Amino acid sequence: MTRTPAGERANKRIFRAPGRVNIIGEHTDYNDGLVMPTNTALYTWVSISPRSDRLVSVVSNAFADERQFDLDTIAASEQPEWIDYVQGVCAEIEARDIRLAGADIAIKGNIPLGGGLSSSASLELAIATAMLAVVNVELPPVEIAKLCQRAEHRFAGVSCGIMDQYAIACCGEGRAIMLDCRSLKEDAVEIPKDVSLLVTDSGVKHQLAEGGYNQRANECRDALAVCQLQLPEILSLRDVTFGQLQRISKQMDQVSLQRSRHVVSENDRVRAAFDALRTQDADKLGQLVSESHVSLRDDFEVSCSEVDSLVAIANSCDGVLGSRMVGAGFGGCVLSVVATEHIEGASQTICRKYKALTGSTPWMHTVSPALPAGEYIAT
Ligand code: ADP
Ligand code: MG
Repeated sequence: MTRTPAGERANKRIFRAPGRVNIIGEHTDYNDGLVMPTNTALYTWVSISPRSDRLVSVVSNAFADERQFDLDTIAASEQPEWIDYVQGVCAEIEARDIRLAGADIAIKGNIPLGGGLSSSASLELAIATAMLAVVNVELPPVEIAKLCQRAEHRFAGVSCGIMDQYAIACCGEGRAIMLDCRSLKEDAVEIPKDVSLLVTDSGVKHQLAEGGYNQRANECRDALAVCQLQLPEILSLRDVTFGQLQRISKQMDQVSLQRSRHVVSENDRVRAAFDALRTQDADKLGQLVSESHVSLRDDFEVSCSEVDSLVAIANSCDGVLGSRMVGAGFGGCVLSVVATEHIEGASQTICRKYKALTGSTPWMHTVSPALPAGEYIAT
């Protein structure tokens, strides 16, 4: 199959979807709990030219090879690769009785892959908005988020919650949202100007990460079953209060207790962090973010020594109010809450100290406002 010659790509359009940074509320979304993400100006760009047939041809700057598939014969792979995210989104759109057109697609992104900033959901949303737009179909952003989540479940084999896709589809510019992942009710809050959010990539990705996410999701399911023996009224871990957990802790195995304690305490921290942002209490926000890291490290056991070292380095710098690992864990990025007046000095010191420890310069990014997924119209 050949791509449409350049001269014929008259209908080329460009779409983009941002990355997202989850300020707090980690591993709570698939427990029906609370999360507090914001979007940032890192993007997956999709340039798309519709074809007259049903073939989709895709290149990405992140991978060397060009891939093709036929919209009529999409099937989930045993061993998912990057193209499965694209195929999955197309399949889920067509599952809603929307007939897509073939297309030549070029993907370009600057979100670190597997770093916890959700390059996967960004790719899904950029593809979904592009594929829908070329056939003139409009869906509510939340519906696009849901079909992208299903694509990640069915075609990438990741049992993710709705947070990433929802934030990238729906979160307004310069805001964080406290999202209830059960009801999908959201409360938005402005990020105060004197608070900066700094992301530093540890550069580490452990093998464990591959299956670690699904393993934790399964452990949470087991923990729920254990809790339900004592608390039959609960439907998910988000329904358990801290007091209830303390009361039933003696009847629980150690792993179930730890996983539940993280989820229950993290939900409380999200509520408190939302209040801290609303009242512009940067110190409190930093403290909650640091507490989240301790819980992810000790109770949920998804951190690793390199990330713990990076968190410690960041927290030792002037103006850093708190830090934690972000994303699934076992490596990836660290988020620091920094007083804006200290952002440059803190970035330089973290970079210098982490380089002294590891020998390599970490990738860093300061969160900046970004629109949700949509068409990019040059101004
Ligand atoms: P995260 O979402 O935290 O970045 P994931 O492991 O969930 O990490 O998703 C990363 C995967 O998503 C990549 O390995 C790749 O398969 C796919 N992906 C993300 N961005 C791109 C891109 N620009 N081009 C091709 N594939 C991408
Ligand atoms: Mg992802």
